[in-house]
Amino acid sequence: MQAGLQAGSRWVRLREVRRFQRLLGRREKVGRSLLILLGVFCAGCSSAGVRPASSVSHSEVIGASVEGRAITAEILGREGPAFLIFGVIHGNEPAGEQLLELFLGHLRKNPSLYSRRRLVVIPVLNPDGLARKSRYNVRGVDLNRNFPASNFKKSRRNGPYPASEPETKALMKMIRQFRPTRVLAVHSPLLCVNYDGPADSLAAAMARASGYPLKPSIGYPTPGSLGSYAGVDLRLPTITLELPGKLSGEKAWEDLKEALLVFVNH
Ligand SMILES: [Zn+2]
Repeated sequence: MQAGLQAGSRWVRLREVRRFQRLLGRREKVGRSLLILLGVFCAGCSSAGVRPASSVSHSEVIGASVEGRAITAEILGREGPAFLIFGVIHGNEPAGEQLLELFLGHLRKNPSLYSRRRLVVIPVLNPDGLARKSRYNVRGVDLNRNFPASNFKKSRRNGPYPASEPETKALMKMIRQFRPTRVLAVHSPLLCVNYDGPADSLAAAMARASGYPLKPSIGYPTPGSLGSYAGVDLRLPTITLELPGKLSGEKAWEDLKEALLVFVNH
């Protein structure tokens, strides 16, 4: 009897222990689920509107040059139409980088300038050319003749086929990803505001703001250029801002700040 009672109470204890273990297991599962839910919620916070104000802009490596240099875009703003801005597609036009870096500094300090639009800014599209002070990429291709425009012409300088170069591909990727409604390319040394596509009034406003002459045509054919591709073929307002030669980035910023703000706000 005594032995039977002991055996019975041991069995009861065993049952209690198992129930407790099951309960613990359930709690662990509930705990894990809560943690997963919390994780999902926090991930949601960081991607959907609860970010701190400073994270409305971030840098992104969008590709690499032939020699493996990073091509970086600064992306500002979270909503609204996207505007694409880039410099130094020709490596011997370094003022574009300095101008766009100064512009980025101003934009970061004034987030209201992009509260209802997204800006994709690429200060240097041709880092190999910039390192060599060369117009071309390291394979000798003029990247501004390498876009898949309907007037693309295969040649040693234009590339063996459209978008054959990794630098061109990096910009194409931004066009596909952001579907910009407006494009600005910074060049030198022709000192003018040139444009392609439906950009008449925007270009005229930028010319007024900068004091640069407005030139609907650059005066020579540019097959496979970004203007041909984005402006003529895709019908995106595309501005080519040509700085004068030998202009420092600081002076360019002083002269062109208003025109760049027109591009963002027009
Ligand atoms: Zn150029």
